Amino acid sequence: MSTARLLPRLLTEIRACRACADALPLGPRPVLQASASSRLLIVGQAPGAKVHASGIAWDDASGKRLRSWLGIDADVFYDAARVALVPMGFCYPGRGGSGDNPPRPECAALWHTRLFALLPNVQLTLLVGLYAQRYVLGERRKATLTGTVAAWREYGPAIVPLPHPSPRNQGWFKHHPWFEQDVLPALRERVAAAMVVAPASIQKRRLRT
Ligand code: SF4
Repeated sequence: MSTARLLPRLLTEIRACRACADALPLGPRPVLQASASSRLLIVGQAPGAKVHASGIAWDDASGKRLRSWLGIDADVFYDAARVALVPMGFCYPGRGGSGDNPPRPECAALWHTRLFALLPNVQLTLLVGLYAQRYVLGERRKATLTGTVAAWREYGPAIVPLPHPSPRNQGWFKHHPWFEQDVLPALRERVAAAMVVAPASIQKRRLRT
């Protein structure tokens, strides 16, 4: 069966998941979007309370800042045919002493390998925050999030590690001006390039070679 048919089935399975229901204060509500044609993959952390309430990924101040970093508007951002939004934990994990809890570990173990395998058209993957970087980069990540983001060129043209765009990280943005000066212009270029779909005639030629 083709990935275009397998992915909707997997998304239906994920949306019915209750694997860690007992640990979720507001209960399961997986929030993600993806399509077999998605070209930009944004691997985030976990929904906050506002996103849990709306059921729309990145529907908060963090999402607004993220879209401005990427140079794309909400119409493009929420078009699953172009952008896949896949947090490390699909459901709101509740709050701890210093902000939201980490993404539930059950999620990646259950779903992410299968899900990523069904996104064959992804040209660029953005790793937003520590949990996504830990999962995707493994031992290639640096000792700190700042170190990993500062080393963004090392991860090649298809991956960019980013800090979380949460308003809580305002201090980080202020103390690391190189992020806005160096990383964001390159990020916008890569995002724009990733969105360009080759004309059908070129795609056919590529398939034949
Ligand atoms: S957080 Fe992930 S594993 Fe837990 S119920 Fe939601 S979808 Fe399932």
